[in-house]
Amino acid sequence: MALRHDQGIVLRSFPLGEADRIVVMLSPNHGKVRAVAKGVRKTKSRFGGRLEPFSHVDLVLYEGRSLDIITQASVIEAFPALRSDLDRVLAASTMVEAVDAVSQEGESAHRAFLLLQRGLKALEAGPLHPDLVAAFLLKIADVVGVAPALDHCAGCGTREGVKRFSFAAGGALCERCRNPGAVTLRVGVTAYLVALAAADLSALPEPDPSFSKEAMGVTRRFVEYHLDRRLESLATADG
Ligand SMILES: [Zn+2]
Repeated sequence: MALRHDQGIVLRSFPLGEADRIVVMLSPNHGKVRAVAKGVRKTKSRFGGRLEPFSHVDLVLYEGRSLDIITQASVIEAFPALRSDLDRVLAASTMVEAVDAVSQEGESAHRAFLLLQRGLKALEAGPLHPDLVAAFLLKIADVVGVAPALDHCAGCGTREGVKRFSFAAGGALCERCRNPGAVTLRVGVTAYLVALAAADLSALPEPDPSFSKEAMGVTRRFVEYHLDRRLESLATADG
């Protein structure tokens, strides 16, 4: 039988039949991987809690006809601290949801994997930074090639008088390129977003409460528009 090694971060899992689960993970080399963990819904499963969402795991897989079967699982990093805090769990869920939405099966995903790993490490390291999720979403948008134009006009490229913002047009717009749906952002918001998009996730700038909420709102709407998908974990965090 053909065995292979793979590693990745568990995105989610769901039940299969009476006792099994399908585990969906993001592998740097193979993108989204779906594999069957047999018997995990029985109390004596040998996988225990090793295949929980967010865990970075190393797997030995038996190549099945349609789905691979997990024969061994070991944890590389479990992120226990972030799991103890609901705000951080919801932030991690949003990161995983966004990565899940943009990754494909059978396509390497090194940048998305590293970004998710950095995001989870930042969550593990300390309390939730109010801008972490926004920064993460701006970066994942960049990974998949839909980063918003922030310091220049998405229409003509000018850096002068860029005061409007359009979700459909791809970001900031100047007065000449403005379209009917473009909104006016408060002065300073796009500069705030530029700083977040450029920052290291584990060394974000000091948050400014007067910008954080608007920055998150704009980023969320932008990403949801371009992924054509609502981020459910964010809706939960708001509620
Ligand atoms: Zn323009």
